Amino acid sequence: MSSKDLRAPAYGRVLLKLSGEALSGRQRHGLHEGTLRRIAGEVGDVLALGVETAIVVGGGNICRGLHAQELGVDRISGDHMGMLATVINALAFRDVMEKQGIAARVLTAFELPAMAETYSPSRAAHHLARRRAVIFAGGTGNPFFSTDTAAALRALEVGAEVILKATKVDGVYDSDPVKKRAAKKFDRISYQEVLKRRLKFMDATAVSLCMDNALPIVVFNLKGKGNVRRVVCAEALGTVIS
Ligand code: UDP
Repeated sequence: MSSKDLRAPAYGRVLLKLSGEALSGRQRHGLHEGTLRRIAGEVGDVLALGVETAIVVGGGNICRGLHAQELGVDRISGDHMGMLATVINALAFRDVMEKQGIAARVLTAFELPAMAETYSPSRAAHHLARRRAVIFAGGTGNPFFSTDTAAALRALEVGAEVILKATKVDGVYDSDPVKKRAAKKFDRISYQEVLKRRLKFMDATAVSLCMDNALPIVVFNLKGKGNVRRVVCAEALGTVIS
């Protein structure tokens, strides 16, 4: 074991935001078995450190409201489809975690009692206190929002100390690092600067909510093995927005 593995966690309760794409691996659509298992294992490692872990899953690997509109579907129905997509991801992720012996519960923003418990702050607190991974599904339950905003909202509701936003790049850049090789990465950046520069890693509603409530965000690359544990232990990884 290296000295790095001995680092203590920096937080007692975290909210991990996983986009739908994070669960689809390289294929970008649908769900990828190996990816689900790997991320589940990473969450299990964090729980084993004694860190209470809530998760908000996205649904973009299955459906986004804006794309559904291209099919002639109304925005509101499209957003409802997108929110249901997050439930599909949440159920899959819960089962993959449970198969690895990691206790997990899904709480939905709207009633789906045949499939999962309905969200309330007290239900979430109950499960978190019992060291279960709590997966919030259904976004905010309202159209015109995103699961990033749901992550900010739920993090505040359950008293998480930080949002850990897993992405496919290693932090926040001043321009798209995939398109522009000279793009500059920020180690730290303020909420105001993010909003002023209109940086796109998270929507402005979510960033504003975090800013108004002084909730820090860490944007990091999910691809590196052990990265979830590393950010939880506040290793210098990714970008901190505060
Ligand atoms: N969505 C919504 N309200 C919410 C959260 C999500 O209407 O509070 C819908 C919206 O259509 C969105 C889709 O669900 O496009 C999937 O969520 P998101 O795009 O945030 O997923 P991610 O990009 O994280 O996979």
